[in-house]
This record gives sequence, structure tokens and C-alpha cells, in this order.
Amino acid sequence: MLTDAQLMRYNRQILLHDFDIAGQERLQQARVLVVGLGGLGCPAALYLAAAGVGELVLVDGDAVELSNLQRQIAHTGDDIGTNKARSAAAAIAALNPEVTLHVMEEPLLEPAMAAVLSRVDLVLDATDNYPVRFALNRACIAAGVPLVSAAAVRSEGQLAVFDPTRGGPCYACLYTEGDADTALSCSESGVLAPLVGVIGSLQAMEALKLLSGYGEALRGRLLVIDLRSVEFRALALPVRANCPACGHLHN
Ligand SMILES: [Zn+2]
Repeated sequence: MLTDAQLMRYNRQILLHDFDIAGQERLQQARVLVVGLGGLGCPAALYLAAAGVGELVLVDGDAVELSNLQRQIAHTGDDIGTNKARSAAAAIAALNPEVTLHVMEEPLLEPAMAAVLSRVDLVLDATDNYPVRFALNRACIAAGVPLVSAAAVRSEGQLAVFDPTRGGPCYACLYTEGDADTALSCSESGVLAPLVGVIGSLQAMEALKLLSGYGEALRGRLLVIDLRSVEFRALALPVRANCPACGHLHN
């Protein structure tokens, strides 16, 4: 049940006929895990909170550094040295105090991951740590939780929804664990600030669609973006035969 203030706060999305009050109530009841409160996680989590997702679980083991402020828009100069999940939680609480926040200041590793995933409806992978990406993919498959996966480096970004328990490919259908060319990072390769805003916002959009039932989510497709040449392409993403992570679901 939405209050009068909530009907006003979320009015512009409730106005969408195929979103409506029912979509808003689904957001209010949802719990979303955001792994990484850096360039992607900051805009993604801010938009999820602004849009009225009921609960956010924020995970990051790192502290804010001066070189993060160019693009990680939930953090300010006063937050340097503060844990990123805690810093982002403060920004989110200021934006929308109705959101229930859970802050985890340690990296989320595999044994603990399963317990956290058993209590969430959706996961946003906004980390730049490849072992964590593969572990999250495995844990999401085991828990049957959709994974909105995004990456950004230089002027290039990628976005996909992985939900193989409901059909389609997983992260490990696309990438092989241990591949050298998946190891590019912003700290080594650089990144232009608005790129992470674009990709992080698209990640929030896919999450809102999955949670509310609005529109058609980016399942079985990989969105590849290059803002240097302003190219957006959505490629069909096949299930990998004998995928080590999701192969058992497709036999
Ligand atoms: Zn797979």
C-alpha cells in the first residue's frame, strides 16, 4: 500500500500505464544486492533508491580514494578514506530515506555469498573483480536469482541480464574463467567519467524492469557500447554448450 507522499514521490513512473501502482508496489517489496559501489554501482544504486526499491544491500571492501571522485558520483571529498558501501549508503539515505539499507564493508566471498543471495530478488554485478564476477554468476544460478552484469573501461561498456534458471545464457557462457583479456581494469586502462554513468544507469533500468515486470529485459542479448564512436549494438548471446556454470540447466 502506497502512502499519499509515495504516490507523489513516484508519480512520474506510476504514470506509465504498464508500470502503474502495481509496478511501484513490486519495487517497494524488492531487495537488491549491489556488489561494488564504484563507477557503475554509484549511479545504479542511486537510481534504484530514487525509484523506490524497498531494500538495498550494498557491498564493497574498498575505501574511497581521490582518484575515484572523477566518476564515482555517490562519494565526495569528505568521504576519502571511508568505506565505499558506507559512503554510498549515506548519499542514498539523503536521496531517499524510505529505502532500507544494509551495508557490508567486506568483500563478498563465496561461502557467505550463498546466504546473502538467499535473501535477495536480484543482483547487480558492478565490480571490477573477475574472480568475484564468476563466483557471483555461480551463486546466482544456485539461488535462481537474476544477475544484471555490467562492465566499463576506456570508452567501452557491456551490459547483459543473466537468468539461466529461466532460460538463456549465463556470464560463464560468455567468458572463460582465467582468460587474460577479461582482466582490463579502469585503474590500468583509464575511463571517461560519463561512460560509467551511462552503463550504471542502464544497469538500474534493467533491474527496475525485471523487478516491476515493465518492458522487455536484456535477456539472451549483450549490449556493447562504444562512446568514442557513439555505437550501441545488441548482440544475440547463445548458451555455451557444456557451460561449466549453467550447462546442467540446459540438458
Ligand atoms: Zn552458462
